[in-house]
Amino acid sequence: MAHDTPKSIQALSDQCVRCGLCSAVCPTYALTGLETESPRGRITAMQAMASEDRPDDSLLQGRDHCLGCLQCQQLCPSRVQFATLMDHSRAQHPPRLPATERWLLRAVASPLRLKATAAVLPLLRPWLLSRGFPPSDPCPPREQPPARPRGKVALFLGCVARWADSKTLADTRWLIQQAGFAVADIPAQGCCGALHQHAGQTETARRMLEANRKAFENGADWLLYSTSGCAPMLEPLKDALPVAEAFHWLVQRLPAPALQESRRLALHLPCSLRQQPEAAQTLRQYVEQHCQKPVLLLDNGCCGAGGAHLLRFPERAAALRQPLLDALEGVDLLLSSNIGCTLHLRAGLYQQGRDLPVQHPLSWLRNLHEENPTCTL
Ligand code: SF4
Ligand code: SF4
Repeated sequence: MAHDTPKSIQALSDQCVRCGLCSAVCPTYALTGLETESPRGRITAMQAMASEDRPDDSLLQGRDHCLGCLQCQQLCPSRVQFATLMDHSRAQHPPRLPATERWLLRAVASPLRLKATAAVLPLLRPWLLSRGFPPSDPCPPREQPPARPRGKVALFLGCVARWADSKTLADTRWLIQQAGFAVADIPAQGCCGALHQHAGQTETARRMLEANRKAFENGADWLLYSTSGCAPMLEPLKDALPVAEAFHWLVQRLPAPALQESRRLALHLPCSLRQQPEAAQTLRQYVEQHCQKPVLLLDNGCCGAGGAHLLRFPERAAALRQPLLDALEGVDLLLSSNIGCTLHLRAGLYQQGRDLPVQHPLSWLRNLHEENPTCTL
């Protein structure tokens, strides 16, 4: 922790005028009705904790129930930098982590560990299934590299996504090639570090960022990411190469698709994607334009995944998810572009015995462009 962290927390908290407008959009306040579970209550708690060596458990807990959805920050008229304030506070007083999260943080902390974890994952299949996390079916990529590429594109593989959603990554590679670009393989890339940042491990997150900067600079003309939750951690890499959200980037470069969607779709816009208004709007418009039936839009509140929130507070995460699951009656396919939300929603549907598929918008986009796909959901 930097020696000036308590001062930064005080200065950032002082920007809040305690108007309480943000409570109206806070999912945890809606869930409990408690001031300690509102953005204003959390700011007050973080300010109080800044001068404490051993803060009270109830203050810590109220802060750590936060989902990081940043709907408060988006609405705040005083422009309080809630995300930065949280980062400082967690660095000063790290949250208490369950064993699964501690394991995950260690398992993804370097490219070498990511590979080692991939080797043992098949052994964890029964445990994952018992927790309601059905693994996605691997889909072999049918590569079609362009003869004269327009440029070289690197794809960010993430950590959990590379194990749990290899299909989306394979589909994105295919789409990049269809857009006329070559895919640059960057084996030295690692996890973005968002999970570490949210756990108060800011030094580890910084090291991971620097390792990624080294891996990507000079390796490609563009860096695309498919998991919206990684976006804030990849933002600083923009001084090394252009970084873009994959769906937004691809639909501007692909030809018109071969097919129209005839099924009833629900489109979930994760909180992290809503922080990128241009990408969220592109996705929404594109899906609506290419569906024959009206699209059910899920763009309010938070599904409860909230980074590692679903591991730390599974019951609260399930309660926040329930309204979304209830809204899905009559839907044939659910789209969501953040791996944490996808796994959480998939688990909820699985536990309820519903076989509604949950797919990444990029996999859906591939199906629109390929009349005879190698595999479908
Ligand atoms: S964070 Fe912003 S909106 Fe919320 S109470 Fe403070 S000033 Fe008001
Ligand atoms: S980030 Fe989301 S959950 Fe956390 S205080 Fe703000 S609105 Fe509430």
